[in-house]
Amino acid sequence: KRDQEDLQQLKAAVADLDPQSTEIKTFAELPLSQPTTSGLKASHFQTLTDVQQRAIPLGLRDRDILGAAKTGSGKTLAFLVPVLEKLYRAQWTEFDGLGALIISPTRELAVQIFEVLRKIGRYHAFSAGLVIGGKSLKEEADRLSRMNILVCTPGRMLQHLDQTAGFDADNLQVLVLDEADRIMDMGFQSAVDALVEHLPKTRQTLMFSATQSKKVSDLARLSLKDPEYVSVHQDA
Ligand code: ADP
Ligand code: MG
Repeated sequence: KRDQEDLQQLKAAVADLDPQSTEIKTFAELPLSQPTTSGLKASHFQTLTDVQQRAIPLGLRDRDILGAAKTGSGKTLAFLVPVLEKLYRAQWTEFDGLGALIISPTRELAVQIFEVLRKIGRYHAFSAGLVIGGKSLKEEADRLSRMNILVCTPGRMLQHLDQTAGFDADNLQVLVLDEADRIMDMGFQSAVDALVEHLPKTRQTLMFSATQSKKVSDLARLSLKDPEYVSVHQDA
């Protein structure tokens, strides 16, 4: 009962949040769940970087985002915090299947994202996995249907959506495309297009890149709905 009241209060606070707010400087000032707040604190994250300050309020308010900010500006938390919060507010459980899919151009970057997710998500009950190949398709497939959040590379993920029986993304709430410029430069356009075909149309999509380019805006046109543009030039 108490938990339900807290959840309703959190939802009300998010509904009250100005998505364009520039006043919020710290994670503590954002309407975040207890598990996320504790995870951020335990990871020693306190002050928002510029891209986080712009993107997190929009993300919490369920907006699609096209964000550009240079390497090192803190884009990972700019999408991971809204992802955790969206699933938390939806009271996502193991029975709800895949709630969030995070696409990265390389295995190494996927592993880095996964490690940050494990750190700041440590007090959440969600299951999370990496889908980057390296293991047999079957070995990966056995665990997929139990995962709430997956961090993946495009080709491998598409292989599972095409071939793994009993696994689908029909319930997906949020799609993240990280390093969209590199995704395009590495020739993953058609894999991402095919991936998106497997996803429900009603979803939130967060797309981030270090640079803006025609290829990135092409990808954005295909996968984002009425996006908010967040572009940060200064140092974070
Ligand atoms: P990007 O994806 O934009 O290249 P990252 O998300 O990898 O940037 O973050 C770059 C570095 O900044 C990481 O070491 C990360 O831990 C740190 N960082 C991110 N957000 C914050 C923050 N709010 N406060 C302090 N350090 C942060
Ligand atoms: Mg990054």
